[in-house]
Amino acid sequence: MSVTKSYAGDGGYPASYYAATRNIIRTPVKLQGRVETDICVVGAGYTGLATAIHLAEKGNKVTVVEGAQVGWGASGRNGGQIVNGLNVSLSTIRSRFGEDAARFIGGLVQEGGRIIRRLVS
Ligand SMILES: Cc1cc2nc3c(=O)[nH]c(=O)nc-3n(C[C@H](O)[C@H](O)[C@H](O)COP(=O)(O)OP(=O)(O)OC[C@H]3O[C@@H](n4cnc5c(N)ncnc54)[C@H](O)[C@@H]3O)c2cc1C
Repeated sequence: MSVTKSYAGDGGYPASYYAATRNIIRTPVKLQGRVETDICVVGAGYTGLATAIHLAEKGNKVTVVEGAQVGWGASGRNGGQIVNGLNVSLSTIRSRFGEDAARFIGGLVQEGGRIIRRLVS
């Protein structure tokens, strides 16, 4: 990982429950030289790490590049709740886009929760 002062200050975590109770403390390492990889993921929040884990599980060599630290962004500052809802109701989606779309999107919400629980465990 490389620490930059452009948008993340000194790259240190803001004071939070997560930062205070983390049990793995890594010293960020600056990326140096040339790195060969199948896929480079930029950003080590939930999105980047989940993407990297899924791609690695499929056999790809994945490199994650982070400008601050793992979980430095929204992922290290949130309420930690798995939200099983959408900004609009499924009935609104159904009336606008049809039954198939509503079922698909409703299924994505449930699947998201299952993916999170699997990754955590
Ligand atoms: C206060 C708060 C409370 C929330 N509560 C909840 C909740 O209870 N439940 C819920 O489901 N969601 C919640 N959310 C939303 C959730 O946290 C975000 O949707 C999620 O963390 C986004 O993850 P991300 O990986 O996309 O982004 P981030 O976690 O922000 O990760 C992006 C990463 O990319 C890095 N980066 C950015 N640009 C570059 C670059 N050019 N080069 C290298 N690295 C870069 C950043 O440093 C950062 O680490 C909350 C958000 C906030 C802010």
